[in-house]
Amino acid sequence: MTRMSLRRLAPQRRVPCEETSIELWYGPPEPDDGGYVEPPDQRRWRERRALQYCESCSVRATLEAELRRPAHHQWGVRGGMTERERRALIRARLRAQADQAVS
Ligand code: SF4
Repeated sequence: MTRMSLRRLAPQRRVPCEETSIELWYGPPEPDDGGYVEPPDQRRWRERRALQYCESCSVRATLEAELRRPAHHQWGVRGGMTERERRALIRARLRAQADQAVS
């Protein structure tokens, strides 16, 4: 979700992900030739910190907006969930839809 679309969701509200470093939400830039790769323990710490911000945020609409994207387009902490959690939720919803279509 872009900062512009966040403003459409909550034009008067201040949201933590707009006021903090983008790296907190998405991690460091992708490694290039021999570049830095975020260690797993640092990633867990960073995601926990971002999730704490989401817990205090009043704009939870970002989650459903993010879930409209396909699983392979999920990046970073958004709407109170990590990208892995959102991918799992999207796949579970797709499986449930497929099961309903069959029955
Ligand atoms: S819930 Fe999290 S990602 Fe969504 S607007 Fe709030 S701080 Fe940003």
